[in-house]
Amino acid sequence: MAGNGKTTVNIGGRAYPIVDHTFDVVVVGAGGAGLRAVVGCAKAGLKAACITKVFPTRSHTVAAQGGVAAALANMGPDDWKWHMYDTVKGSDWLGDQDAIEYLCRNAPQAVYELEHWGVPFSRTEDGRIYQRPFGGMTTDYGRGPPAQRTCAAADRTGHAMLHTLYGQALRHDTEFFVEYFAIDLIVDAEGAVRGVVCLKLDDGTIHRFRAALTVLATGGYGRAYLSATSAHTCTGDGGGMALRAGLPLQDMEFVQFHPTGIYGAGCLITEGARGEGGYLTNSEGERFMERYAPSVKDLAPRDMVSRAMTVEIREGRGVGKLNDHIHLHLEHLDPAILHERLPGISESAKIFAGVDVTREPIPVLPTVHYNMGGIPTNFHGEALRRIGDNPDVVVPGLMAIGEAACVSVHGANRLGSNSLVDLVVFGRAAGLRAAELVKPGQTQPELPADSAELSLSRLDARRFASGSIATADLRLEMQRVMQSHCAVYRAGEVLEEGSQAIHAVWKKSDDVKVTDRSLIWNSDLVETLEYDNLIVQAVVTMDSAKNRTESRGAHAREDFPNRDDTDWMKHTLSTIDEAGKSVAIDYRPVHSYTLSNEVAYIEPKARVY
Ligand SMILES: Cc1cc2nc3c(=O)[nH]c(=O)nc-3n(C[C@H](O)[C@H](O)[C@H](O)COP(=O)(O)OP(=O)(O)OC[C@H]3O[C@@H](n4cnc5c(N)ncnc54)[C@H](O)[C@@H]3O)c2cc1C
Repeated sequence: MAGNGKTTVNIGGRAYPIVDHTFDVVVVGAGGAGLRAVVGCAKAGLKAACITKVFPTRSHTVAAQGGVAAALANMGPDDWKWHMYDTVKGSDWLGDQDAIEYLCRNAPQAVYELEHWGVPFSRTEDGRIYQRPFGGMTTDYGRGPPAQRTCAAADRTGHAMLHTLYGQALRHDTEFFVEYFAIDLIVDAEGAVRGVVCLKLDDGTIHRFRAALTVLATGGYGRAYLSATSAHTCTGDGGGMALRAGLPLQDMEFVQFHPTGIYGAGCLITEGARGEGGYLTNSEGERFMERYAPSVKDLAPRDMVSRAMTVEIREGRGVGKLNDHIHLHLEHLDPAILHERLPGISESAKIFAGVDVTREPIPVLPTVHYNMGGIPTNFHGEALRRIGDNPDVVVPGLMAIGEAACVSVHGANRLGSNSLVDLVVFGRAAGLRAAELVKPGQTQPELPADSAELSLSRLDARRFASGSIATADLRLEMQRVMQSHCAVYRAGEVLEEGSQAIHAVWKKSDDVKVTDRSLIWNSDLVETLEYDNLIVQAVVTMDSAKNRTESRGAHAREDFPNRDDTDWMKHTLSTIDEAGKSVAIDYRPVHSYTLSNEVAYIEPKARVY
């Protein structure tokens, strides 16, 4: 099956013609991570494809506002080792310190690369990249004042990055497959990943990609929740594919709530707003963060601010008619600064809350924003699984990067602006590794005879699903359970109830009803495939949260309020049995060593700000 031949597979008496493609590397996803990886592969002379279900510049990275972290020291003293210290502390000691060292050490170079490629960063008076303070970023190993480390292009940093990276990808001869939906991985009998099967959304043709390396860069699964800052396309398709292939997902209980989603609408007001001097108040007009984080106040890490806001609301000090949200103030800031540095969120506040930020506070509420969990990888981006006693066995042929992955640099809580830098640092690392592992045009073995069957039988079953519940209803039920039972604060009884409820939704999924039988722009069918990906991740998120009987980072258990390093300084690995509809939980040790001798392991201590 060399070249781009055509074959036909019969499923349920229906013939599905298949278009075959062969590449050295196939990257699924054209967000910041996918685009950076594919540029690296193409530069190394590899024949690289980039598959994406939406047009590249519509990937969720485009919505990133506040900036990208790197210790450039443009606005005052800074050091990548301080960035590393903050990231380890921010992760509540669940991050792998070798990967964190790799991230922070390579961050400046990654940002300069973006600058040279054309990202229009905001500038200082003397022409250097402008950097703003962000939560949890400090100087001198937490002893000094907040660091100005977050490089920004006004409040549209992701937009600037994504467009620049797309331009670079085109320049380097990447082959794009735009509006192709990846259904499932192709895995051979030895457990090696050999490619991916896709549905071309506009004409319904099936495409089978054979590749020496498949890179999943499919983003997060924020849409498992009712209220999320992420796009409707953030359905964690890569995580769903990994689980169905029998692979584990790591640390799925750690879901980040961003403190400042707009009340009601859920869209984001960047942490950069507080970085520029914004602050939060309760119904008494009190700047309550002074009580929770006396030294950094409103610039505490996100998990702490979201918890503080939740406590204020619970204790009756929320604002508004229902006392159910908090105020974010920017009206004391110079309107010229707002116009120059925060134009995007000024507009969002007007459209979604009817608020003029130069005059009145913005109503905000903690909203689901980021998934710390994902496909476990090493710092080269290679996917890992446990075999016997070894929890770090590389899955041949598979890589994961960006929000879909758990490398794990964010551990139990990600610091703001550390995701954009994760995308470019590990996107680059994946390209470098691919160049080591794959020779341009190397011969690839034939695919297994049944290589398209997993994907096509699922596609066919969903296409002709004639149960009694619409996908939209199942999705809403899942989102409600996650929102009410697996939120900022968690407790054993609520999680137990949540686990039963979410498993019940999962079981009901077999009774789904799809009404459109066509294969051309069938949004009913695609949303069902996306729902399939969301529900399995919702289930492992809930069960991992129920299982972890301690509080760490974004996982705050009311019944186990303390961090327990003796029993729980370990990653959760969760796998599913799709047929039996059950979840199994295993663990992986946290890497308590660094990459080089230049920095020592950072010992766990209390997280005080
Ligand atoms: C509103 C908002 C603001 C943010 N601001 C910041 C910030 O200022 N700083 C920061 O560091 N982080 C920020 N974040 C987080 C950060 O932007 C994301 O974590 C990051 O952009 C994710 O990038 P990614 O490349 O992993 O995936 P995405 O950008 O989500 O891209 C996923 C890609 O995968 C493709 N894909 C998915 N499934 C399939 C499939 N089945 N078949 C084919 N293609 C598929 C999509 O088409 C898309 O191209 C923000 C997040 C949000 C939601």
